[in-house]
Amino acid sequence: MSHQPNHLNSNPNSIANLKLKIGAYEICPIPTGIFGLDGGAMFGTVPKVLWEKSNPPDDKNRIQMEARALLLKSRGSNILIDCGNGGDFVAKYGDKMGSKFGEMYNIDDSGPSLEKSLHAHGLSVNDIHHVILTHLHFDHAGGATTARDHKLVPTFPKAQYYVQQANLDTATTPNLRERASYYPANFQPLIDADVLNILQGPKENLLPGVSTLISNGHTQGQQMVKVTDGHNTLLYCGDVVPTSTHVRVPWLMGYDLHPLILMEEKQKYLSEAADHSWYLFFEHDPYCDSARIEKKGADFAVKERYWL
Ligand SMILES: [Zn+2]
Repeated sequence: MSHQPNHLNSNPNSIANLKLKIGAYEICPIPTGIFGLDGGAMFGTVPKVLWEKSNPPDDKNRIQMEARALLLKSRGSNILIDCGNGGDFVAKYGDKMGSKFGEMYNIDDSGPSLEKSLHAHGLSVNDIHHVILTHLHFDHAGGATTARDHKLVPTFPKAQYYVQQANLDTATTPNLRERASYYPANFQPLIDADVLNILQGPKENLLPGVSTLISNGHTQGQQMVKVTDGHNTLLYCGDVVPTSTHVRVPWLMGYDLHPLILMEEKQKYLSEAADHSWYLFFEHDPYCDSARIEKKGADFAVKERYWL
């Protein structure tokens, strides 16, 4: 099944469709909707002439971004990684910010959504048992909470949620630069409902076959999620490598807090990914959801792109 929304420009390179199962888990991409971010901010110091062909901007210079969660589906235990932008923006962010939020980020609610994508796999919000949040920026954690009966509550009533302590700390007292990305409405209801599990550092086998790796370059205490059965390995990259274009080490986002740290982290994790043929899973790439990469001198290049 192809998840490529048909209103997007098609990528000139062919993309292989692949059904992946890792251990007990069916690997199910969960597109939650297309939104837009400033192309310059997404590519940092990379000149527009280099990125505008692969990521054409609109008349406000915004490029199309997917907000893609990942479902690890297995008998008796369903794990969701990240939750997309969510909705209920006025209830969450107040009249002033909430009413212009959808327009500001060009959030398209006509296509896939978290609920619709889960439904396509025969699941509802009641069927999710674990939610791993890479970090609490709104485009990753927005869907974690929802408004019900005029109250903000966890979107998944039966789920335990997981986040890193360092990320919760920075989300609770954000620096000026990240203040527009962290909103208490996306995590305080999880704390109030006593379902937010706070992790200290990398966690091997947090859940069977599912481990977390830490990165501090984009924001403090982001966790990537590694799923492995010893044969196949998939890495949910979060904002460490938001799209397949960002596998190149110096292609960073303007949003990244610590560029040099992030480049070191990319060297380390992507070397391992190239050496062991890991599948990299991209949260924000509208033109493919995963890829395998190869080393190219001191840098990396995409070997093959996939729709899982
Ligand atoms: Zn982020």
